[in-house]
Amino acid sequence: MIPFNKPYLTGKEAHYLYQAVYSGHISGNGIYTKKCQAFFEERWGFKKTLLTTSCTDALEMCAMLLNIEPGDEVIVPSYTFVSTALAFVRQGAKIVFADSRADHPGMDEDKIEQLITPKTKAIVPVHYAGVACDMGKIMGIANKHHIFVVEDAAQAIDSYYTIADEKSPLGDLGVKLPLGSIGHLGCFSFHETKNIQCGEGGLLAINDERFFKRAEILWEKGTNRAEFFRGEVNKYGWVDTGSSFLPSELNASFLYAQLENLTDIQNRRKTIWQNYYYGLKHLEEKGLISLPHLPEYAANNGHMFYLVCNTPDEQTRLISALKKEDIHAVFHYLSLHNSEYYKGKYEGGALMQADRYSDCLLRLPLFYELADLQLIINSITSLIKNK
Ligand SMILES: *Cc1c(COP(=O)(O)O)cnc(C)c1O
Repeated sequence: MIPFNKPYLTGKEAHYLYQAVYSGHISGNGIYTKKCQAFFEERWGFKKTLLTTSCTDALEMCAMLLNIEPGDEVIVPSYTFVSTALAFVRQGAKIVFADSRADHPGMDEDKIEQLITPKTKAIVPVHYAGVACDMGKIMGIANKHHIFVVEDAAQAIDSYYTIADEKSPLGDLGVKLPLGSIGHLGCFSFHETKNIQCGEGGLLAINDERFFKRAEILWEKGTNRAEFFRGEVNKYGWVDTGSSFLPSELNASFLYAQLENLTDIQNRRKTIWQNYYYGLKHLEEKGLISLPHLPEYAANNGHMFYLVCNTPDEQTRLISALKKEDIHAVFHYLSLHNSEYYKGKYEGGALMQADRYSDCLLRLPLFYELADLQLIINSITSLIKNK
């Protein structure tokens, strides 16, 4: 069976883990945590980052930092992972779901403004498959209405938004901005299904300086321990709300080995993505399926390769036919506004595109050691042509 995903090991993980174990400091915020955070700050210019135990945790920190309260509204795409909405629901927010674009599963930027009310506190764009949302448009809307933007960049490490509009609120034409650094806050995931992984892990990027100090306090269980460690105060205590959001050095050391090999991992994934794209393009040209669309402002980080079938029936049949050929292709999100948990609370209208991606999108195997790419392309080609 060709699996859908196989977590890649660079070879250095066990070595760094060993060093962390024998260094005597295995709790959080040690040497490897600092190395991982510094990597983000040096490589992409993030102003301040905090390693977390997951992207879900980083999103929960955002909900706390923004003081989300019962009655507040948060705009989230319906076609996303549960955590994007759940982190805000825990603080009592009402989720206002946005539909996806017709040409991409990301949220339709042109439908955001009509969802804003005086209660709207935040917009949470998700860079699906590592492909940027139109951040110029989203930040323009957010600035105009004085609301916050939290980027769910769980899938978007090492991906970019390039300013493609002369009047962009984000700066000059052609400037390339790393995803996760554009909103007030950004969240990354290092879950084993992501490009760079440590089993479970995440990172919060704090792009708005107003949140620097409080983010560190929430991270350290509501205490000012981080300041104490730096020698800025001579004792530490309980100063705010918070939780235990920091991972142990065991996760951080594993993660650092992956980050060190980022270029190699990214190159390999992008090559696989390109090969899928050019291998399946002829099917798209005949109108039999749709392939991923990259807007001019979006880069590709090789996170995911998906195709969209013309009907739900074709998706179901293709997944099961591939399974018979030992290829594990999978569907993705089920629209959150239709979920068992939220559908009774949902007050908005139909979200046609989100439902279409739920019913028609399927993801193909994509991992570093994938060897049978041509075989997969050939299987899909013959299954679709002979349907
Ligand atoms: C993976 C993912 C998450 C959750 O990440 P965890 O690190 O598992 O908490 C959230 N949002 C999106 C879009 C994801 O892909």
